[in-house]
Amino acid sequence: MFSKILEVNEEINQLYVDENQGMRIALVGNPNVGKSTVFNALTGMRQHTGNWPGKTVALASGNFIHHKRLHEMIDLPGTYSLMAHSREEEVTRNFICFEDCDVCVVVCDATCLERNLNLVLQTLEITDRVVVCVNLCDEAEKKHIRINQKKLAKALGVEVVMMSARSDIGLDALKEALVSCQERKSHENVARIRYGDAMETALAHIESVMKCRRLNKRFLALKLLEKDSQFESCIENVSEVQRVVNQERLRLSEAGMDDQLEDEIVHAISKKAAVICADCVTYDNIHYYERDRKIDRIVTHKVWGILLMIALLGVIFWITIYAANVPSAMLADLFAWVENHLNHFLISLGVNEAVRSLCMDGIYKTLTWVVSVMLPPMAIFFPLFTILEDFGYLPRVAFNLDGYFRKAKACGKQALTMSMGFGCNAVGVSGCRIIDSQRERLIAILTNNFVPCNGRFPTLIAIITMFFAGMLTAPWDGLASALLLTGVIVLGVLLTFWISRLLSMTLLKGVPSGFTLELPPYRQPQFGKVIIRSIFDRTLFVLGRAVCVAIPAGALIWIMANITIQDQTLLAMIAGILDPFAKQLGLDGVILLAFILGFPANEIVVPIIIMAYLSSSYILEMNNLFMLKELLVANGWTWITAVCTMLFSLIHFPCATTVWTIKKETGSWKWTILSILIPTVTGIIVCFAVSHVALWFY
Ligand code: GDP
Repeated sequence: MFSKILEVNEEINQLYVDENQGMRIALVGNPNVGKSTVFNALTGMRQHTGNWPGKTVALASGNFIHHKRLHEMIDLPGTYSLMAHSREEEVTRNFICFEDCDVCVVVCDATCLERNLNLVLQTLEITDRVVVCVNLCDEAEKKHIRINQKKLAKALGVEVVMMSARSDIGLDALKEALVSCQERKSHENVARIRYGDAMETALAHIESVMKCRRLNKRFLALKLLEKDSQFESCIENVSEVQRVVNQERLRLSEAGMDDQLEDEIVHAISKKAAVICADCVTYDNIHYYERDRKIDRIVTHKVWGILLMIALLGVIFWITIYAANVPSAMLADLFAWVENHLNHFLISLGVNEAVRSLCMDGIYKTLTWVVSVMLPPMAIFFPLFTILEDFGYLPRVAFNLDGYFRKAKACGKQALTMSMGFGCNAVGVSGCRIIDSQRERLIAILTNNFVPCNGRFPTLIAIITMFFAGMLTAPWDGLASALLLTGVIVLGVLLTFWISRLLSMTLLKGVPSGFTLELPPYRQPQFGKVIIRSIFDRTLFVLGRAVCVAIPAGALIWIMANITIQDQTLLAMIAGILDPFAKQLGLDGVILLAFILGFPANEIVVPIIIMAYLSSSYILEMNNLFMLKELLVANGWTWITAVCTMLFSLIHFPCATTVWTIKKETGSWKWTILSILIPTVTGIIVCFAVSHVALWFY
């Protein structure tokens, strides 16, 4: 009753919200400190949270109401510093400098405050309107780390809020702190970094001649000393200032400090952070990282780490394949039952036979195949994958694969974008923005398609199950399937290395750049939230997309299968033209056509194959994989066809959405066309070689 009244009150309050009076708040923080969690808790938006650095590349913005004012919050990319060395750092720094934001919230990790204070101190150099949000206090407590909030607030001279965002603790305090920060008049006590005497003198001299109303003069002076020309337009008397800057640079270089400016800045910031932490943070148990280190010794071990990774992948696939089998069959039965009744119903209504067949044999069959075959594995695979992600395992995968990518002269972060590709290649391609070097980003984009997205998993799983693992009557069948699928994935990863290496030696020559990867602490996954998040954010999203494509595709294929030219259906005719070439690849014309027609989405490749065969076959019901195998074998499939179809599914052109994303990300037709050609040509070569070698054994 009481909560109902509160709800009604809230609704009434919202009617009087003043949209013009609210604040614009920027959310800043190191990767993995819970920034997205704070953002989601405040704005109620479901932004995806994951454990890889720099995941928040695009800016998300959301609103919340406090004291009848509508405030806007912008989630900036996770970054360790504002030195603008990487794209994320530059985006974040420029946002704070140039976009009108009233308050900047810097989210920190309570378990490693000292490192996080570097970012706080750098932000304070740009703006005084800062609220420091010390998140993950629950974890700090478990690790016996105590932070004295009052002392910290005094040392920094700004509002400090203690939070456990995951449990919504501290949200109200944060909202209040935002208001008082905006209303605060005096900023005299805000912490300032003190550099060496020579630098301080130079800064003071530049500041004294500078005329600028937009930005903090000391910050500008520092940037000019660092030869950062981006800020010149903010200065009213730029030529005069530039003269003084040149003088001061000369003086610093005479003192032998020219090359050491950045070192001096980094040193001064770290020193200040260390001094503040020494005063405000108490470690009651200095062995608090011991457990994580022990686990990491195995998980990131050169040999065991890789074996564990492959084993984990295998286990996830095994659970997915074995557990998905029963619900898949149940769904297929249900859809067949509905189909039967719908058909009777449509016939009793006297619906035109062609229309009935288009709807039922074309659209309905394709649609229900996609749902019954894709939904169960996805509903199992995604939560399992997300649990690993939530646990903090993915950065370890990047760490383990870093050396291999380096050998391929690519960037270790490619391991993360590759992992994203398992979900969806389009997501993997846009994720490549976390790679700073243009050369390495292109390599990652061009090779992302070598790992199968979930649209291709059902095809792979179905073929493996039918041809290589019995019919899944025992868990062992699932195990064999899982092993084979793991083998296919490992092949995809190996191809990623080889092709990356080939590109680095030819089209995209260069030296690999280094990157710092933080291994975040292991965290207990939130099982409930993980399941809900992966079902709604991923499973239903991907399924929705597949369904949208399956409906028109189903209709188109049906039409092609029913238009007859000279006693041959259009589908059979085109398949016939493709047949001689396809046979060289161990496929047939229908399979190759299915891959071409499946360009909008890979999920519909198998339905197209079924429909094409059905249009010339006596088998009319297609309720389970057993019948499907019969259909395929009746149309000439052997284990070689199965292997080659799997290989071609792994190695062929990206789907339409991915191609479109590649064009958007690279802005170039040349790279977009290459991203289609590279995997397709590789797939043709691999399938050709495998089918011809396999024929010797057949
Ligand atoms: P971001 O990279 O800074 O956006 O961080 P996320 O919001 O993605 O959070 C990283 C991880 O920290 C996720 O697994 C969150 O569930 C977890 N997390 C966030 N806030 C808290 C908190 O207050 N306590 C605990 N224990 N975990 C948290």
